[in-house]
Amino acid sequence: MVIIKKPSQRSLYFQYVFLIALTIISSVISFAFFLSLFDITLFKSNRQIFFENEYVNPTKDRTLFYDFNYENKTRENGAIVVLVRNEELSSLMSSMRQFEDRFNKKFQYPYVFLNDKEFTKEFIESTKAMTNAETKYGLIPVEMWSYPSWINQTEALYARKKMEEDKVIYGGSESYRHMCRFNSGFFFRHPLIEQYDYYWRLEPGVEFMCDIDYDVFKFIKKNNITYGFTIALMEVKETIPTLWDTVKEFTKEYPEYMNKNSAMKFISNTGKNYNMCHFWSNFEIGDLNFWRSEKYIKFFEFLDKAGGFFYERWGDAPVHTIALALFLEKNQIHFFNDISYRHDPFEHCPIEKDVHEGGKCHCNPEKTFDFTWGSCLPSWFSL
Ligand code: GDP
Ligand code: MN
Repeated sequence: MVIIKKPSQRSLYFQYVFLIALTIISSVISFAFFLSLFDITLFKSNRQIFFENEYVNPTKDRTLFYDFNYENKTRENGAIVVLVRNEELSSLMSSMRQFEDRFNKKFQYPYVFLNDKEFTKEFIESTKAMTNAETKYGLIPVEMWSYPSWINQTEALYARKKMEEDKVIYGGSESYRHMCRFNSGFFFRHPLIEQYDYYWRLEPGVEFMCDIDYDVFKFIKKNNITYGFTIALMEVKETIPTLWDTVKEFTKEYPEYMNKNSAMKFISNTGKNYNMCHFWSNFEIGDLNFWRSEKYIKFFEFLDKAGGFFYERWGDAPVHTIALALFLEKNQIHFFNDISYRHDPFEHCPIEKDVHEGGKCHCNPEKTFDFTWGSCLPSWFSL
């Protein structure tokens, strides 16, 4: 005999609730789908909100664009700055090839190559052959690439040994530390750079995967942008154990330098700790006069005195980022979404279809670092 059990009042109630909930959810989904047919979004990501409200879109200003028929091509007072070793010539040539093809053959901004050793004849000839733009070659003065008097070099050596044992990236390298200190405190005052207002930092072995048809220097000048980046990520914390404490000492001593509308939240929620976020400085486009300003020079000198460039392994990227986030207005820092850039192992590739097609990009948007683990771009959008 089959016993048919009458459903209890309670289970009937649950069934009703379940059915109602299901109807509501499915209507919301279909409504959202319906709206999306007309390009209306119900739920917006921080990225969407950012692009609608804050992104300064260069393509909206046609006066910045390169025009083959336009004779009177003027340039801003900018230069491509390349710190590089002779041994990196072939990977530098590959960077230059893409940089020229994607941008500089149209605008012909001069290159300034810098080195702590003399450039070889081969280096000079090969790089000259890559461009029609002017090229300059500079030796870095010793005082910009050596130990300041107050550094105890035995202690520095010991620190390097320890970091090497701990397998910290570049932990055992002395030259890497001079490089980071040079990029933090000196490149903008090098005799060959002094005459310029704007710079674009270029490294060996990088890639540019979309056309850049507008004058980037004109763009930043017109929009009062001091610094531009493409990739933001987290620093290896073992390289900067005391950096944030030193920064806090500085801000205590010079509170008048802090900007009230700064992007401070990008690097620290409460000011107590540094979240390790920084702009990846192998790509930088910026205003050299910011680095030459009194507050930045004071900031650099304060850090330099503390010794962390040698006793630890402070990178120019967190040093630059922290200064930018303390001293500038947030809207003086620009995310160059339209510049697709790769420096091993990360790349930024725009995900918007129109940017991709307009820029004839050869990168895969699915490989963009923007939203992957370790990227600080989502928090930039949420500021
Ligand atoms: P990473 O990007 O942090 O892996 O470091 P890199 O080895 O790429 O160095 C950063 C930049 O500084 C590159 O442009 C290098 O060519 C340059 N660089 C690094 N060390 C030296 C050095 O000892 N001498 C010179 N002249 N350039 C250096
Ligand atoms: Mn590099």
